[in-house]
Amino acid sequence: MTVEDQIQPRKVAVIGAGITGISAALFLQRDGHDVTVFEQSDPATGTSSGNAGVISLGGCVPVSVPGILGRVPKMLLDPYGPLSIRWGYLPKLTPWLLGFVRNSRIDRVRANASAKAALLDHAQSAYDILISATGTEDLVRRSGLLKIYESDETFAQAALDIELYRACNRRFDIINGNDILDLEPALKPVFKHGLYFDDNSGIRHPGQLVVRFGETFTAQGGTIVRERVAGFSGSHSKRVVETDNDHYAFERIVVAAGSWSSKLMKRFGARIVLDAERGYHIMLPQPEPTLNGPVALMDHSIFVSPMEHGLRMTSGVELGGNEAPADYTRIRRMMSIVGASVEGVQLEEQSAWLGFRPSTPSGVPFLDHAPGNDDIVLAAGGGHIGMTLGPVNGRIAADLVAGRDPGVDMTPYRIDRKF
Ligand SMILES: Cc1cc2nc3c(=O)[nH]c(=O)nc-3n(C[C@H](O)[C@H](O)[C@H](O)COP(=O)(O)OP(=O)(O)OC[C@H]3O[C@@H](n4cnc5c(N)ncnc54)[C@H](O)[C@@H]3O)c2cc1C
Repeated sequence: MTVEDQIQPRKVAVIGAGITGISAALFLQRDGHDVTVFEQSDPATGTSSGNAGVISLGGCVPVSVPGILGRVPKMLLDPYGPLSIRWGYLPKLTPWLLGFVRNSRIDRVRANASAKAALLDHAQSAYDILISATGTEDLVRRSGLLKIYESDETFAQAALDIELYRACNRRFDIINGNDILDLEPALKPVFKHGLYFDDNSGIRHPGQLVVRFGETFTAQGGTIVRERVAGFSGSHSKRVVETDNDHYAFERIVVAAGSWSSKLMKRFGARIVLDAERGYHIMLPQPEPTLNGPVALMDHSIFVSPMEHGLRMTSGVELGGNEAPADYTRIRRMMSIVGASVEGVQLEEQSAWLGFRPSTPSGVPFLDHAPGNDDIVLAAGGGHIGMTLGPVNGRIAADLVAGRDPGVDMTPYRIDRKF
C-alpha cells in the first residue's frame, strides 16, 4: 500500500488563490481531498500575476544582510533607489522592522539562506509536477537569470551574495561584459559584471499560469468560491469558514492568503510577523529583438522580463502595508533606467500594477500547523521568491495536512519562531 492510499480524504478549505494557495489545492486534490479555494479578488490580477516571473532557484540570499541598515538612508534619499516607505505606516511596521534588523546578523543570514535553499532544492520538481498536470509547458521557458552590475563598486557589494550562493550550492557563473552581451545582445554595452544562473526559468505570463492552474483544479472537481473570508468558527476538525456572504464547513483549513495571512491567523491565536513588501510593475512594448530571458539590473533592483504580452519592468520595495493606494511616481521615473539598459525599448507605459510580496523579516516563509490546532496549516511568506516557492510550499502544505514527512527539516519554517 502506498502512502497516498492511507490518506483519509477530508473536506479542505484553502484561503487564497495565489500561486501558493492554488498549488496547495492541486496537491491536496492529488491526495484525494475534497478541496474548496476561497479568493476575495481576481487571481489573475493579484501578487502572483504581476511579478517578474522568475523561477529563481538561485534566490537563497535574504534581503536582510549585514550593513543593510547603514545603506537605508541613501536608498531612501535616492529618487531612483530601490526602497521607499509610507511613513504613516511606520508604527504598524515596527515589529517587522525590528525583526528585519535582528536578521541582518551574519549567523542569522547564513541560517536564513540555508533555510531558503532547502526549499529551493525542491522548487523545480514541484513546478514540474504541476506544469505537467496542467499542461502549461508553453508558459515557462528555461531561459536562465542574468544579474548584471554597472560598476565595480556595486559588484563588490555582491561579495556576500556570492559567498552565500556558493555555501548553498546554487548553480551560477561569474561573467564579464562580453559574456553578458553574448547572452543578451539586446542589452546596451554598459554592464561590467554579471552572475548567470542557467537553471532558472522565466514564466511568460505569471497571471495566466495561476489562472490555468485554477482551471485544472476546477476541471478536476475543485471549487473556487469568489468570496472574502471574514473569520472562522467551530472547533477541531469541525471548522466553519465565514465569508461575507455565507458559512461553509470543513475538516481542515490551509491559510495561503499571502500578506493578508497574519490577520486570518490571529483567529487561531497565532500572532505572526508578516507584512507586505509592496512592489510595482510597468508593461512596456516588446522591443525587437527583445531579451532572451529575465535580467536583473542590480544597481537599481529592477528586473526586466520579456513576457508573452510585452516587456515587464518591476520595482524594488515600498513598505506600507496592504491598504495604501498605489503611487507609480518612482517606477515611472525608473523607466529611464530601462531605456538606458536595453536597446530599442520604447518607454511607452502600456499598464501599471501594484502587488504585495508576503514577507517575513528573515525572508524565510511560514510552513506549519497553527500552534495547538493541527487541523490548520499556514503556508505564507514567500516574499521575493514567492512565485518560485509557491508550488513547493503548496506541496508541503498538502504534506502537513496528510501528516506526511515533507522531506525537509521543518524547524526553520515554524510559526512560533522568534525574529
Ligand atoms: C514586483 C514584484 C516582483 C516579483 N517578482 C518575483 C519573481 O520574479 N520571482 C518570484 O519567485 N517571486 C516574485 N515576486 C514575489 C511573488 O510574486 C509573491 O511572493 C507570490 O506571488 C506570493 O504568492 P502567494 O500565493 O503566497 O500570495 P498572493 O499571490 O498574494 O495570494 C494570496 C491571495 O489570498 C487572497 N486573500 C487574502 N485574504 C483573503 C481573504 N480574507 N479571503 C479570501 N482571499 C483572501 C488574496 O486576494 C490573494 O489573491 C515578486 C513580487 C512583486 C510584488
